[in-house]
Amino acid sequence: MSFAEKLLPQTQAARILALANQKGGVGKTTTAINLGTALAAVGETVLIVDLDPQGNASTGLGIQRRPQQRSTYHVLMGEAELSSVIVSSGIPRLDCAPSTMDLLGAELELSEISRKTYRLADAIQRLEADPRHGKRYSYVLADCPPSLNLLTINALSAADAVLVPLQCEFFALEGLSQLLKTVERVKGSLNPKLSVQGVVLTMFDRRNSLSEQVAQDVRSVLGDKVYQTVIPRNVRVSEAPSHGKPVLLYDHECAGSQAYIRLASEIIRRERDLRAA
Ligand code: ADP
Ligand code: MG
Repeated sequence: MSFAEKLLPQTQAARILALANQKGGVGKTTTAINLGTALAAVGETVLIVDLDPQGNASTGLGIQRRPQQRSTYHVLMGEAELSSVIVSSGIPRLDCAPSTMDLLGAELELSEISRKTYRLADAIQRLEADPRHGKRYSYVLADCPPSLNLLTINALSAADAVLVPLQCEFFALEGLSQLLKTVERVKGSLNPKLSVQGVVLTMFDRRNSLSEQVAQDVRSVLGDKVYQTVIPRNVRVSEAPSHGKPVLLYDHECAGSQAYIRLASEIIRRERDLRAA
């Protein structure tokens, strides 16, 4: 270590995880909110970046959408810094950069500006270099829209790794190869450090033998990439967003909350192994 390095504060860059799957309704947003909450609960400092025009991650955290609100749209378009749109979720160590409906137009508008695939990566880098933004995030979770569009490409270009929620249903694996191909393409051109952190099975219903069959099939294809933790289908998980709360706050004891706590520790363990490697 050089003398200059010794003088500098030893801040580690945030781990940036993109929650991606071009299928809608597979649990991306639910996982962003609840994994984020579980990570914050064990002392990590977390920023959720809402990249879906639907804004379910923002509303699910109880963040009211206001007219004229500055959002991730303005960040991507270079009209606002990330630090100026971030709001507190009210949960210690958990912040959110909300989205607004403006994002619906971002795809087209982005295609015409420079560094169109790196807008999010650049914004996160500026945030981390900004001494006025007092907070240092250990995790940034990017909640992607249900499409492999430029918004998702921005998340993949910024990310260290992808986390893929996969719903335990018959066509679970359909579309996954397309997603993995996109990840490989981004890794080969835009972002060489990108890897797949893991695949999380969501909405597992143990009363339905199909769920078990799908889980076995997915594990036989993807092996270790699939987390041991499986998120059960749990009505408390689906009720929580209408109360503007993560399920961990809505009902800490329920099976869904407990599963997200286990997933967080599995992810932290994987991150430690990756860093040590
Ligand atoms: P995506 O972001 O991939 O579109 P969501 O996270 O919004 O998916 O989930 C889709 C729907 O399924 C939402 O209504 C959500 O509340 C519900 N849901 C997600 N995970 C669970 C779960 N484990 N148990 C019950 N409902 C769930
Ligand atoms: Mg979503």
